[in-house]
Amino acid sequence: MNNFRYNEANQPAQAIQQIGTGADTKFIAGGTNLVDLMKYTVEQPNTLVDISRLELAKIEKTATGIRIGALARNSDMAEHPLVTGQFPLLSEALLAGASPQLRNMATLGGNLMQRTRCNYFYDVSQPCNKRQGPTAQAGCGALDGYNRIHAILGLETGNLNQSCIATNPSDINVALAALDAVVNVSGPGGQRTIPIRDFHRLAGNKPQQDTTLAPNELITSIDLATPQRAGKSHYLKVRDRASYAFALVSVATRLVVENDRIQDVRLALGGVAHKPWRLTSVEQQLIGKPATEASFREAARQLVAGAKGFEHNAFKIELAQSAIVRALQTVAA
Ligand SMILES: Cc1cc2nc3c(=O)[nH]c(=O)nc-3n(C[C@H](O)[C@H](O)[C@H](O)COP(=O)(O)OP(=O)(O)OC[C@H]3O[C@@H](n4cnc5c(N)ncnc54)[C@H](O)[C@@H]3O)c2cc1C
Ligand code: SF4
Repeated sequence: MNNFRYNEANQPAQAIQQIGTGADTKFIAGGTNLVDLMKYTVEQPNTLVDISRLELAKIEKTATGIRIGALARNSDMAEHPLVTGQFPLLSEALLAGASPQLRNMATLGGNLMQRTRCNYFYDVSQPCNKRQGPTAQAGCGALDGYNRIHAILGLETGNLNQSCIATNPSDINVALAALDAVVNVSGPGGQRTIPIRDFHRLAGNKPQQDTTLAPNELITSIDLATPQRAGKSHYLKVRDRASYAFALVSVATRLVVENDRIQDVRLALGGVAHKPWRLTSVEQQLIGKPATEASFREAARQLVAGAKGFEHNAFKIELAQSAIVRALQTVAA
């Protein structure tokens, strides 16, 4: 690990002032991702701004739902009555991630910002467009390497030799995508809100950039709106080991069935793209259909239409469809 300066912030405004342009400075919250990346010299900030003491850990009711502070720990969110009561999908996704010790340290903001688990990204001896940036013309080690955990969707927007086929590794980002979360951020220019669908991005021709957050902006909270109709939800995570592993494929779903017909549905996929994968057009087509395996299979087919498999991950195309059908059958039962 390289030497770095360490600053503590006590107020959000102070944190934003200390981050400066953000060019060589990073916020640190729980440190469970950033410190690892610094040890591997993937990230080499010369200054850290410790935001863990900011009063941004509250989980509270709002007029339309709930607000969760960016410093809320994964374990506290997973057990909070406002989350388990109104957003069990989020709680389930949180408990599917990492280990109890990690969940006690990891924060909401850090989870939104955690970086990919692509092995070539972590290994600085390997070529990696995401780590080295497109101007280095490094290439992508995973493209012709071992690409079992990599993306199958959202790859058509860039020249893959200059882009990135990594996936977003977070479980809760998938649940937040299905729940239409809104991310509240503060920066030198004031506050703004970013719908979760616009927060994470496809790699395209800027593979080094995972999100639309500016380097000098601080995530302060997220807002979740209470669904108008009660329904059932499920987070299905398919992985190589039963615990302590990232998703190969995951499905966050929420379904409302009345009079045997689908009234409302949410479907987001994890482990398949550079960002959580959601197609509202597929959800719209399910509305009014019977909650049967045939309807679910058709939705699954449409959700992964255009998927591209590589040497070691082509199995994900079928796996994702089976997982979607299984998750929907679970909530329809
Ligand atoms: C062994 C292991 C297993 C794991 N398994 C899973 C898993 O199964 N599923 C899963 O989803 N995750 C998993 N994780 C990832 C874990 O959830 C993340 O490391 C964690 O959520 C990051 O949160 P943090 O607070 O520690 O972030 P940090 O490491 O402190 O920060 C991560 C990044 O976020 C930025 N950041 C943090 N807070 C803010 C903010 N408020 N505003 C702007 N930027 C911010 C930092 O600058 C940094 O770039 C695992 C991690 C480990 C080490
Ligand atoms: S998939 Fe992305 S992160 Fe992995 S080596 Fe390729 S460019 Fe780097």
